[in-house]
Amino acid sequence: MNRVNPTQVAILTSFVMAVIISCLECLLIYISGTTLPFYYHLIVFFMVFLVSAVTFRVLYGKYIFSNLFQIYKHILILKHPNEPVRAYEEKERDITSEINRILEDWSNESREEIDQLKQVEIYRREFLSNVSHELKTPIFSVQGYVHTLIDGGIDDQEVNMLYLNKASKSIDRLISMVDDLESISKLEAGELMVEMRTFDLTDLIRDVVESLELQAKEKKSAVVMNVDMEKPQYVYGDRDLIRQVVVNLLVNSIKYGKEGGKTEIRYADGGDKVIVDIEDNGIGIAKHHLPRLFERFYRVDKSRSREQGGTGLGLAIVKHIIEAHHQYISVNSELGKGTTFSFSVKKSK
Ligand code: ADP
Repeated sequence: MNRVNPTQVAILTSFVMAVIISCLECLLIYISGTTLPFYYHLIVFFMVFLVSAVTFRVLYGKYIFSNLFQIYKHILILKHPNEPVRAYEEKERDITSEINRILEDWSNESREEIDQLKQVEIYRREFLSNVSHELKTPIFSVQGYVHTLIDGGIDDQEVNMLYLNKASKSIDRLISMVDDLESISKLEAGELMVEMRTFDLTDLIRDVVESLELQAKEKKSAVVMNVDMEKPQYVYGDRDLIRQVVVNLLVNSIKYGKEGGKTEIRYADGGDKVIVDIEDNGIGIAKHHLPRLFERFYRVDKSRSREQGGTGLGLAIVKHIIEAHHQYISVNSELGKGTTFSFSVKKSK
């Protein structure tokens, strides 16, 4: 709808007023029996119209402006409570357009804020229900073993050590879950400080491979570094966080690898980045799972993940770390054939 301004209102009111006054004037002159030339009536009409148009325009302007200024002031006080409201000159700009603009901006901002708050609320609810669900399993199993031991199992030489070992494994799982939860909440809240520095990526990966030797041996699998071990590969990033990325990906390749399987680590040149490929010939992942793989608590095979002591948070942590470095990670997989994770790290200058 077109907005009407004070000038238009003043013209319309003055026109109506001039018509009424001219009619009254004609009536009075007719009753008094006098006859006057037609231009006399026209002059009266235009005089009344002109004087009232100017008067109405000034009065309307002042009235509307003072009322709108109050609204404008209150909106600004609500929007910026700590800023003084500057005086608004009537002739400066059209105050109605200004109010419209402020309200439009404000409603857009509020809509965005409400959407964000809704997202945070959904995320919070989901997160809480996932966490409690994930924690329940190991807690209940510890409770079960401990109760069985209290109820006499402790004296049964056949099962006491077995149950204690199982309870201890569940406690280990609880600890790794709490550690992962701590990392992910710090990463998601943006609280984790990324301490960028130059380090040798080859040295870091060699170190991780050595630390996982025992785990790989248990699975009779091999982790092979297909890179020039003599040549350092200097990169720029947070060494501890990148170490966590390599650990999570290599542990997964062993966990979800076949008995006697193989994991290969390679570098590719990506200009100012190094692309690290971690390829296994394990169970692989069906294509439809890939888009959701980096989500918190997303697992392809829940029971296999739990059996392997997985928390469902490893890849979500990896993705957050890579994003905190402004780099990328991708996955390629074929069911039954194997999986390749590729991530980039900035080269050191
Ligand atoms: P989890 O603690 O369950 O291992 P992750 O976030 O590390 O959680 O991985 C999510 C899921 O992705 C795993 O449950 C597993 O199903 C699948 N996955 C991850 N890495 C591999 C891999 N190398 N090969 C096959 N499946 C994998």
